Amino acid sequence: MKCLQTVYSSEEAFRETVSGWKQQSGSMPAFIHVFSDGAEEKDISTARSVMEELMPDTPYVGSSASGCIFDGRVTTEKLVISCTIFEKPDSYARPRLFSLAEGEIDAFRSELRQCLNSLPNVKAIEVITTIDTIPIREVCQVIQEEVPEGIPVWGGGAFGDNTFRAFLFRNGEPFRYAGVLMTFMGGSELQIRYACVSGWKPLGYPLKVTRAEGYVLHELDGNPAYQIYQHYLRIPNDDHIFYNALEFPFAVQDGGRTLLRHAMSCDEKGALVMSTRIPQGSTLHVTYGDPETIMQDVMQCAEMIGAFSPDVISIFDCFGRKTFWGGTEATREIVPFHQIAPTCGFCTAGELIRWEGSMEHHNLSLVIAGMREGEAREQKPVVLRREAGNNESTMSMINRLVNFINTATSEVIEANATLSLMAITDQLTKLYNRGEIQRRIVERVEEKKKQPEGENATSLVMIDLDDFKHINDTYGHQEGDQVLMRISALIHKAISRLDINAADGRWGGEEFMLMLPGMTQEEAADFAEEVREEIGKLRFDRCGQVSASFGVAQAMPAEEPDPLVVRADTALYQAKAAGKNTVRKAGADEAPSGGDAQV
Ligand code: GH3
Ligand code: MG
Ligand code: MG
Repeated sequence: MKCLQTVYSSEEAFRETVSGWKQQSGSMPAFIHVFSDGAEEKDISTARSVMEELMPDTPYVGSSASGCIFDGRVTTEKLVISCTIFEKPDSYARPRLFSLAEGEIDAFRSELRQCLNSLPNVKAIEVITTIDTIPIREVCQVIQEEVPEGIPVWGGGAFGDNTFRAFLFRNGEPFRYAGVLMTFMGGSELQIRYACVSGWKPLGYPLKVTRAEGYVLHELDGNPAYQIYQHYLRIPNDDHIFYNALEFPFAVQDGGRTLLRHAMSCDEKGALVMSTRIPQGSTLHVTYGDPETIMQDVMQCAEMIGAFSPDVISIFDCFGRKTFWGGTEATREIVPFHQIAPTCGFCTAGELIRWEGSMEHHNLSLVIAGMREGEAREQKPVVLRREAGNNESTMSMINRLVNFINTATSEVIEANATLSLMAITDQLTKLYNRGEIQRRIVERVEEKKKQPEGENATSLVMIDLDDFKHINDTYGHQEGDQVLMRISALIHKAISRLDINAADGRWGGEEFMLMLPGMTQEEAADFAEEVREEIGKLRFDRCGQVSASFGVAQAMPAEEPDPLVVRADTALYQAKAAGKNTVRKAGADEAPSGGDAQV
């Protein structure tokens, strides 16, 4: 297959070009892309009628763009038209324009299904949409679910801004401002290799999206989102924030995937208006765009596409990348691909690709699709000039500094995690310490008070080893420690069979506290009885057998944490008074006794 391109200058010249295309294609199937970066509507309409008149059987698709790719360059040309001619008679490209405003998603699903069923041997689908005027998440989901797994899907968003609406068109249909234009490609010999590349790399700490609504990112880690740009990167909140923040977009982790999102603007409260919605609760990293690192990833992608030896290449290049490179300088990303095969495409308002098993709306990416019919042609492997810096001895200064920041950050994160764990763990027994188990009891009891009465039982079990002083006095403190450790391990193993939120802590020297969510007093007492029996089965080298006493209390409706703990303590006292090595339940009407049981 081959790709022929032209820039529209006049009807006359275009007629001549299209006549030439018609001659070159002969009886072979072909299809045409039209990309407009601010072309006059009358020029687009004239071009359309010329194509419909001279090549009536050749379908065309078109859209608004933020820059057209022509002759291997990102250009400022207003109207670029590219004709792809197949060389096998059964190859085809059939466009279909799904008009899609809010609420028509079910109709889109069934029409897409029909299309897929009616076309023979579909090998690939190119998608161009008006991203902002359709429910893009749902559209991606429908494509993911309806298009069989082995069929590549890629494309991009028609570009629009404050001055003009994004639009789409195809042969035989009017301009559309809300829709999905899908070109189904197929044929026995058609083959595709495609990829998505970004090049931006994560920097520093993970941040939690604590407040976000739609495209507005209000808070990160509880602070106004813009603070990240101000505090760490000294980016002022002025007219240039879009350009400055573009070098440091966010990599958002959403449902197991990482997607780049960039800020479009910032309001006076420090909320960032993003390129795409960011889910509340997700985690993100600031990333950095270093030209050299980005180009390394682009070259790697070009090598992969080059190895496939395509005849033509489609490129969907985010307008944000174009802005990052400074306009037509973005050509440097196109050149490696154009060395492989003729390229056509445009600068998009978001990219779409089914990549790594999931159909997503991307930002700041470069989506590349190489196509050919039949086996790879015998050709010299393309030698791509790699920029320096792809190994450790030639790393750039920026990459070394980023490596420094990321290494130091992960060391601090690790140290913080260790400190946080130490702050809540009892060093001897490795159970929660008293502060943490108290905190968990209070949290649980307070939570329970908000719930309807009778729901969500919670019980405490307080454990005190019997005659422990005697063990210490007779066999030494070390033996006592051994007993404490083994009994703690036994308790922890028993707890891990229960509710995920069940917790065990060391309450005092040889006292333990269990917090058992979802358990009534009866159930907790049964559980305590099991633990008591298991303790009785342990054998120690020196002191032989040990035992423990248990006090069990279930939280009463609206009961505060303190009296609940006192009732468990009282039940434990009764177990001791009854001769030890036993379980006692608290009586609901029992007056709390004293003791050191306050939470
Ligand atoms: P009872 O059956 O009435 O509970 O008698 P007891 O001897 O277990 O009770 P008491 O509270 O008199 O003794 C608890 C002992 O636990 C006293 C203290 O020396 C010992 N102890 C507290 N913390 C530790 C520790 O970390 N290691 C060791 N080995 N002993 C400890
Ligand atoms: Mg004690
Ligand atoms: Mg004791």
